[in-house]
Amino acid sequence: MQREELLRIKNLSVSIGDVEILHDINLVINKGETHVLMGPNGAGKSTLGYAMIGNPLYQVTSGEIWFKGQRIDDLPCYKRALEGMFLSFQNPIEIPGITLSSFIRSALEQRGIKLRLMQYKKELKNTMDILNIDESYADRDLNKGFSGGEKKKAEVLQMLMLNPSFAILDETDSGLDVDATKTVSLGIEEYRKKNDGSLFIITHNTKILQALSVDYTHIMVDGSLVKTSDASLIDDINANGFAQYEKDQ
Ligand code: ADP
Ligand code: MG
Repeated sequence: MQREELLRIKNLSVSIGDVEILHDINLVINKGETHVLMGPNGAGKSTLGYAMIGNPLYQVTSGEIWFKGQRIDDLPCYKRALEGMFLSFQNPIEIPGITLSSFIRSALEQRGIKLRLMQYKKELKNTMDILNIDESYADRDLNKGFSGGEKKKAEVLQMLMLNPSFAILDETDSGLDVDATKTVSLGIEEYRKKNDGSLFIITHNTKILQALSVDYTHIMVDGSLVKTSDASLIDDINANGFAQYEKDQ
């Protein structure tokens, strides 16, 4: 079956200040696919996530990014989000004075989704139940005093509530214990089932991948994609590490 193209990255190079971090990246992600990006620390994985979502710190110096048939590399971050992109941060920030519940509700409203308060609260509670988050968290300031695992779950909660068409999860599984990892994988599966969502999962931890069906795995070394294959590449990395690809550079 021919799948519908969702995201296309063509010959993309990205710099922070004067330093080129990503070199000539090519990548195609179709609707409903799950892609995994692995690579050593500092390889540029988060940089690619930020470049996709349009963080202005990361300048596209050449190449193109297409999303749903539209060229987006000149669009600001919020417009890409309105088009259906979502990025879960490696290090989620705390927002004092804004509760988790009101944060998600206003994000929904910005996307033109207005739910009555009772209906919203019910949906939020149901989704928090899936992720095993205590309902008291809804009325706590976003990420303030949350443990590492709770912050990551709060990110997945936002994804499930916002229902993006493309979600980039940057190390969403780091710092999670075994049970939390399972819960987060369940949440991710729920997202996939709900709307044929596409995923770009940046991770070091292959445990989360055991519960997900992965279509493609990419390896990044020193700002370049050096290998793309199917899910079996994950086992190869587990057994042999990244050194084999670093030598090829
Ligand atoms: P990864 O996510 O694969 O660990 P990053 O994308 O975070 O890698 O980093 C890639 C490279 O870009 C590293 O050399 C890092 O030091 C550099 N880098 C990342 N963010 C910044 C920043 N805000 N300012 C300067 N350099 C940065
Ligand atoms: Mg990173």
